[in-house]
Amino acid sequence: MSSEFYVYENWRRDRGGIHRAECRYCNFGKGFQAEDGGKNGKWHGPYDRDTASTKANSLNRSGMKECSVCKP
Ligand SMILES: [Zn+2]
Repeated sequence: MSSEFYVYENWRRDRGGIHRAECRYCNFGKGFQAEDGGKNGKWHGPYDRDTASTKANSLNRSGMKECSVCKP
């Protein structure tokens, strides 16, 4: 398991998520096409776990959560 984490921010939907780098939804910060075309959101990272949490909080998105697939 990687110890790198990414934070996804989607400003259009006011949400985001914390992911492990190797999560299929994260793909090491490249994301997946369905959600991320670069117009609606942005990947932040890589970070360690604590920094990812701090970053997620600082983005202040109402829908920010930890990914239920990779369970960061
Ligand atoms: Zn994930």
